[in-house]
Amino acid sequence: MTTDQSNSLKLLFLSTPVGAIGSGVGGGVELTLTNIAQEMLRRGHIVTIVAPSGSVVKNISVIEIAGELQTPAQTQTRDEPIILPKNSVLANMWDYARQVQSDYDLIVNFSYDWLPLYLTPFFSCPIAHLISMGSLTDAMDSIIEQVATNFLGTVGVHTLSQAQTFTFADKCRCLANGMDLSIYQFCSQPSDFLAWVGRIAPEKALEDAVAAAQITGIPLKIFGFKQNEQYWQEICQKYADAPIEYLGFLPTEELQKELGKCRALLVTPRWVEAFGNVAIEALACGVPVIAYRRGGLTEIVKDGETGFLVEPDSVDGLVSAIRQLDNIDRLACRQQAETEYSQQAMGDRTEQWFRDILRGIRQYI
Ligand code: UDP
Repeated sequence: MTTDQSNSLKLLFLSTPVGAIGSGVGGGVELTLTNIAQEMLRRGHIVTIVAPSGSVVKNISVIEIAGELQTPAQTQTRDEPIILPKNSVLANMWDYARQVQSDYDLIVNFSYDWLPLYLTPFFSCPIAHLISMGSLTDAMDSIIEQVATNFLGTVGVHTLSQAQTFTFADKCRCLANGMDLSIYQFCSQPSDFLAWVGRIAPEKALEDAVAAAQITGIPLKIFGFKQNEQYWQEICQKYADAPIEYLGFLPTEELQKELGKCRALLVTPRWVEAFGNVAIEALACGVPVIAYRRGGLTEIVKDGETGFLVEPDSVDGLVSAIRQLDNIDRLACRQQAETEYSQQAMGDRTEQWFRDILRGIRQYI
């Protein structure tokens, strides 16, 4: 751990331009950025966060930037061109970064957007890019590859599965993720509920979890930001009799309290989930994770030990895993979170990445 002030880094974090931190629009990036910022501060570094207006981060002041929000990349088609709205918050955030860059050792980009990657050679301050999703559009693939090639070691990802969605996987640095586990309480005695947590949007395939709840008759509690209201309404109409309850988008402390009481978390992505913050949050509460064998989840869930990996898109697979939940030791779930996904472990990996970039060391997966 770095406490020596002479070793202290001045870090400028630029958040996602799709929504304010705390709104839920940015998905896992909001918590990832917050956790990395808190951990770097704890290690004696100086952190400034630049984010869209309305952003709130506990104990850290945020430079709030006004402007039009960016459309999330996961709603775009593969050949979609790059679009910046008039008075773009993304452009405004990076204009701010340009003006203050000489005050910092390193800029850290948390957005999945073309502009910061494109701007990299125009900045004198080095930029670390933490890429939060897998391959989605041709324009993004090409600009990420350009930066990964010309600025070796500066492109970070969360999992190998995510890296492998790109043709340049070998140029990505794999960082996993981590949480402040002291916030998540271990719950040994759950009630008879299942949980589903995430942005309510088609790529997350909530409908499969609802179908599994209907078949098993075990009520499903749903937590998360409704990104696509129409999609939610379609689920409610199609599964009108399913035992589901929507509890809204909760702050982490309230979410973990509710999540901990559930028998399992169902994670049912249709896309290659880059990581799946919700999976490690569940494990931290002692909640087994039943997930499709797809993307980052395959690197998190220990099949048969801390949950089950089931055939992608198979509701029957979810149902049969739910019926085997008694075989999972909830303490093993918490222990996995403590060993692999603590804030300390995440901080070690991330701080090393920052220092390697500054020393010009190239280390990939
Ligand atoms: N989340 C939350 N409150 C809720 C539901 C979700 O804070 O009620 C957060 C959750 O903690 C996680 C994020 O939403 O950090 C979802 O991130 P994930 O990596 O699972 O998926 P993404 O949305 O990034 O695809």
